[in-house]
Amino acid sequence: MTFQSPKGTYDLLPPASERVLAVREALAAPVRQAGYGYVETPTFEDTELFKRGVGESTDVVSKEMYTFDDKGGRSLTLRPEGTASVVRAVLQHNLHNGQLPVKLWYSGSQYRYERAQKGRYRHFWQVGAEALGAEDPALDAELVALAWRGFASLGLKGVTLLLNSLGDQVCRPVYRAALQDFLRGLDLDEATRARIEINPLRVLDDKRPEVQEQLEGAPLVADHLCAACKAYHEEVRTLLTALGVPFTDEPKLVRGLDYYTRTTFEFVHGGLGSQSAVGGGGRYDGLSEMLGGPALPSVGWALGVDRTYLAMEAEGLLDEAPAARVQVYGVPLGEEARRRMFLLVEELRAAGLRVDMAFGGKGLKGAMKGADRSGARFALILGERDLAAQAVQVKDLTTAEQTEVPLAQVSDVLKGKLQ
Ligand code: AMP
Repeated sequence: MTFQSPKGTYDLLPPASERVLAVREALAAPVRQAGYGYVETPTFEDTELFKRGVGESTDVVSKEMYTFDDKGGRSLTLRPEGTASVVRAVLQHNLHNGQLPVKLWYSGSQYRYERAQKGRYRHFWQVGAEALGAEDPALDAELVALAWRGFASLGLKGVTLLLNSLGDQVCRPVYRAALQDFLRGLDLDEATRARIEINPLRVLDDKRPEVQEQLEGAPLVADHLCAACKAYHEEVRTLLTALGVPFTDEPKLVRGLDYYTRTTFEFVHGGLGSQSAVGGGGRYDGLSEMLGGPALPSVGWALGVDRTYLAMEAEGLLDEAPAARVQVYGVPLGEEARRRMFLLVEELRAAGLRVDMAFGGKGLKGAMKGADRSGARFALILGERDLAAQAVQVKDLTTAEQTEVPLAQVSDVLKGKLQ
């Protein structure tokens, strides 16, 4: 029996894996350009960090965490998201005592025990960005715009930005009570009724049509925002409009995690079926205090790399053949040629070319097949006679044209041809 990757996980293999690396880089490029610094935190943390930081009433904490005791009896959890860890790291290392806002970005795998399906995995990858320690609508708008630019740079046309405000500690409780009143009057199952008491905003997020139908007349947070929250949200909207970032007001947008306040947003893509969110985030002014730190109003997002890749596939952006693995492929014929080719390949790599060669003692036919499969533009054929002449045959695999080039010049010649 051979092993399979665990349920809800998948392997990334070439050439798709190369493209996924490129997606991660493209999503991170705008925040790096805007001066956000890279942060890396452990893949596991104290279980308590997520219980407090993400919220015990959320699905993520109550149902989806990979929690285990280590051999020292500590309860640890594989991270289900990145924000709580980043805030923990900022507080632990006192970064908030320096220049504010602290701007950080990360790229890493997350773990949630979810019902596995296309676009929803138990191990998935996010690129995230956080700006901590400033309450400024321009910061919210900056982050939203940077995410938008990341998606646009990949050529994606079908991404929609949904925007909402969840209010703050002044107006949210009033809205929460109004919503609870409304929800208590609906025909809902036991679990949902329990949720009304713990986290009523989450009920708005229920995707079941029989629930959605009843939510038609639900009070909206937009109608309950206090003056300060209203002005803040208006400014975020104005700045996004000025930047030319299109958005749709979505008054029912709440997010799965407890810590959001004011600005919340989600990026959705039409080509992904039910798992349509390619990214999301918002402001989380209370999180630092929930984790024992000082007040540190902050905003951030996480973009899903797996789903961004699926969105690109849905838009046909991956239809073109992927870039060739290497540019040049060595075909040595005989023992001595093999040794010389091994050195030549290293020499060419040092000169900046992408180069591979035939291994495993293959003959001419097998080695040429390897050259074709590698996608290389040029094969370098080195036989006994070439060695004696201190030369190599350079074969253009697109035209089959072959020329003899002195070994001392092959690097310059190839670089000239590959420009
Ligand atoms: P969240 O941390 O839940 O706000 O998720 C942010 C983004 O991560 C989502 O918009 C998705 O693109 C992605 N994501 C969340 N959960 C999963 C999952 N189970 N599988 C794949 N991508 C996910």
